[in-house]
Amino acid sequence: MPGGKACILFQSNKEINKYKHQMMTAENKIKQITSEKAWADDKKLNEKMEINEALLQRDIATAERDELKQQLSDLEDAVKAIKAAEMEVFARVESIAAQEIKKIKSAFQQVNKSLKDRGLYYNPLANSQKKDARGGPFIPASVSDLPDKKIQDKISNIFKAADDLEYYREAAKYVPIGKPVWSYWVTSKFGFRNDPFNKKKAGHKGIDLASRTGNKIQVKAKGKVVQAVHGNKGYGNYVVVDHGNGFTTKYAHMHKIYVKKGDYLKINDTIGEVGNTGRSTGPHLHYEVLYRGTPVDPLPFMQAKL
Ligand SMILES: [Zn+2]
Repeated sequence: MPGGKACILFQSNKEINKYKHQMMTAENKIKQITSEKAWADDKKLNEKMEINEALLQRDIATAERDELKQQLSDLEDAVKAIKAAEMEVFARVESIAAQEIKKIKSAFQQVNKSLKDRGLYYNPLANSQKKDARGGPFIPASVSDLPDKKIQDKISNIFKAADDLEYYREAAKYVPIGKPVWSYWVTSKFGFRNDPFNKKKAGHKGIDLASRTGNKIQVKAKGKVVQAVHGNKGYGNYVVVDHGNGFTTKYAHMHKIYVKKGDYLKINDTIGEVGNTGRSTGPHLHYEVLYRGTPVDPLPFMQAKL
């Protein structure tokens, strides 16, 4: 009997275990499915998020690119405007230098009129280094580093123009251009005719400028006093200045002499006073301009403008 009961129990246990096993399998299956689903959703979600993120990044990048493009274009416009302004400034500077050079050259031309009458010619470039290649203008290395060839050329031209201007200005400092007395009237003109055969014939070697005794006499070019003579019978008290480029000037009948032989003079230095010494009939300055020892008409020198 007990065996019968046990048999039922045994059978029940067996059934229960069978159910248990089935349930566990099902549960595992469910678990597996659920987790797979969750995993799949996660993946999808991640993908979706990544796409959204990428889209967002792309939009940002596009916006940034557009912004940069605009900034670049603005910058390019600004650079263009600056370049145009620079070129204008350069052109102005160049034209100012050119005008200055033209002015000095025309003064030299004026001077050469009186030299031509005596068969002479003053060439301001005669002793210039400009004739050889080494004497070219100073152009800083930074100029050749400039990326823009047009601006590079323009700046080089300005340096050349500045160099030329400096040269002509320096040359002009040694040419007696201007009036040695501020108040005068011409009482006797330069006396040589426009005749090459008359060159050696004596005439009036200078110009007589009547002025008051004591009026100041100024040199109109740099130079060195080579003569400062007192009491000459003909010229009275007189001074001769060598300007070092072929030009010399002579100042005669002076009342007082302020300088001595060997003195170096700047433009507009006062060398003495108008007087009536020597062979003179009234207070005046007898003014001579000589080129390579030949007297030339001082009037065009006095009328030339710098
Ligand atoms: Zn005279």
